[in-house]
Amino acid sequence: MSSRPDLGPKPLLGYSANPLARVAERRGDAAFVAAREADPDAAAVAVGGELIVLKKNGSGFDALFRPDEVRALAPTTESVFLGLAHTAGRFGIALDPEATKALKGRPDLLVIDLRSIAVQGLVGPDQLAPLAEAKALLAWHARHRYCANCGARTNVTQAGWKRECPECKVEHFPRTDPVVIMLAVDGDHCLLGRAGRFVANMWSCLAGFIEPGESMEEAARRETMEEAGIACGRVKYFASQPWPFPMSLMIGCHAQATSTEITVDRKELEDARWFTRDEVVLMFRGEHPEGIMIPPPIAIAHHIIRAWVEEDDVFR
Ligand SMILES: [Zn+2]
Repeated sequence: MSSRPDLGPKPLLGYSANPLARVAERRGDAAFVAAREADPDAAAVAVGGELIVLKKNGSGFDALFRPDEVRALAPTTESVFLGLAHTAGRFGIALDPEATKALKGRPDLLVIDLRSIAVQGLVGPDQLAPLAEAKALLAWHARHRYCANCGARTNVTQAGWKRECPECKVEHFPRTDPVVIMLAVDGDHCLLGRAGRFVANMWSCLAGFIEPGESMEEAARRETMEEAGIACGRVKYFASQPWPFPMSLMIGCHAQATSTEITVDRKELEDARWFTRDEVVLMFRGEHPEGIMIPPPIAIAHHIIRAWVEEDDVFR
């Protein structure tokens, strides 16, 4: 292909562009946070484990409830202060997951997982990003109620942004797990893989958790070697994306392959293959002869692959 294809307007990366001001410096001010919650403009999102509760609103959906409305839905656990929308407080409230499932029968609500909300575009980015923030933070609380140092039950402080141990005094902070997701590139070919958990015909970038003592670049090279047997040299950062499943940060990059012979790790992947740029263009257009698709725009993989298709040199 002589000139770069035009794939049309660029969609927004999912869960990104959070409009809330986090005002971290106010989290320790209990009177400020209580006043924001009592304010008539306050709103909260409702998270029950993997499920989100949306309000049916005419033909659309709304993720925002009054905080007291959320508390009336089901038994709650933690409540966290997400930040301010202009001057209005935004909160995330955790509902008991089993009681949340029981809300599926309510005609005024939609109880659904966050991925489906994102893929189906049920709420706008202004609500999707705070939902991701709430889900990741509340998932951390659900898994970290006891001190990892001494085993005592910990207390929530800083409006949900810290847990403190009353016994050994250790402070525990919300955790984000970095994942590197990379497209290995060899000239006009890129390496895509298929994991068994993917929907039929979907191929994507390889990915893996960054390990302690490892840089993003080193993790990209290691994962590409482990999963596909491909060596990589230069690794260039592209963009990152909150990925609240349960609390990751996807760090996207392009990696320059220095070998071509694939050896698939069948424990990690069903398959891995080199594809030409022309083939990948057909995937974007839904015209690939084998019906192969790439992930939807909600996922950073879509954007990493697209950048390689559209840009002259992603390593420049
Ligand atoms: Zn402790």
